[in-house]
Amino acid sequence: MSVAKPKPLGPIPAGYRAIDGELAIGGRTASDLVAEAGDTPLFVYSRDLIAATMQRLRAAMPERLGINYAIKANPHPDLLAFMRDLVDEYDIASAGELAIVQDVGIDPAMVSFAGPGKRDRELEAAIAAGVTLNLESENEARRALAIADRLGTTPRLAIRVNPDFDMKGSGMKMGGGAKPFGIDATRVPALARDIIAAGADWRGLHIYTGSQALSADAVIETQANVLALAHAIATDIGGPLPKLNMGGGFGIPYFAGDEPLDIDAVGSALKERFDALPDTLADTQLCIELGRYLVGLAGVYLTRIVDRKDSHGETFLVTDGGLHHQLAASGNFGTVVRRNYPVAIASRFAAELEEVANVVGCLCTPLDRLAERAQLPVAQVGDLVAVFCAGAYGATASPAQFLGQGPAREILI
Ligand SMILES: *Cc1c(COP(=O)(O)O)cnc(C)c1O
Repeated sequence: MSVAKPKPLGPIPAGYRAIDGELAIGGRTASDLVAEAGDTPLFVYSRDLIAATMQRLRAAMPERLGINYAIKANPHPDLLAFMRDLVDEYDIASAGELAIVQDVGIDPAMVSFAGPGKRDRELEAAIAAGVTLNLESENEARRALAIADRLGTTPRLAIRVNPDFDMKGSGMKMGGGAKPFGIDATRVPALARDIIAAGADWRGLHIYTGSQALSADAVIETQANVLALAHAIATDIGGPLPKLNMGGGFGIPYFAGDEPLDIDAVGSALKERFDALPDTLADTQLCIELGRYLVGLAGVYLTRIVDRKDSHGETFLVTDGGLHHQLAASGNFGTVVRRNYPVAIASRFAAELEEVANVVGCLCTPLDRLAERAQLPVAQVGDLVAVFCAGAYGATASPAQFLGQGPAREILI
């Protein structure tokens, strides 16, 4: 029997329940889903949960606000096709992601392409398709204009601004101070005037400040700062902005103690701001871009226990999955201190928590931990483990080829 002191698990997201004692996703048991997919490890993404999130979000936000999906969170083609009816536009960050959205049949006019280090052939593919480029530097602007000239087309160009502020309390800061992202705010008006003078289709500004924010106050303050900065830049450019991507950064609870973001508070503050916009923004197309908030909680990673062993008084449940599919849950994707994601024994979802065990992956590295000293039901070889919060930054944000393991299966239900 294990005597190790337990470490808390993250909160299991709403919408998951037990059927016949097993975890059910979208009304189907984990074992049923694994049988359909053919094997573990398996990512399951739920249409119902994504749709419910979108519905709550739309209800909370001003009607005027467009909601974009940043596909890097989860570019699975079936999921992307499903998002088509739910979101307004898409944000991509590479020509590879452009190919994915094109394969799914998404209209390139609904797509914006941000990201530092766009190669000439990526700029060319985007310009030829009619995608909006969020320019990350003056140099990139020159290259884009030259490529468009050569192609004989009018490029759709926006500028990504590196603002002088960041999102307080966000998990990953992407604005403020010296950054590889965007163009320092003071240099934006001059570049915008050049782009307009060059005859480009001027698409306005993109201001992204950070990711994984759970504090409504921080999001509200950031959005106020974004609108104020956009107004100041538009005034300097000397005309109204056609479009403003206000960024996003809405976080989801991963760890014990995390509270969900209060989107009603964010939405009502935004409605007040939208009711009092300056002339420069009065007719501007306004949007936010979200990744994990839309899909993160709607995904579960299912893996099977292949060994159960004891070492120095601790129990180890060794699974057929691991950090090669769920790098973030192992604590190796942008976290300083490793904390437990929400994890459960899917095949004993309704059982009492009777032991403390470590859930590890099958890789030969001590980094490969899915849950440390977790309170769980007593699990045996053959049981299924669920790692929640797996709908974003799972399959494509993990080193699937590490140790020759290969990718996990993925299904949208
Ligand atoms: C990563 C990223 C997003 C999505 O971030 P989430 O935290 O998943 O919402 C949106 N926009 C830009 C520019 C990004 O780099």
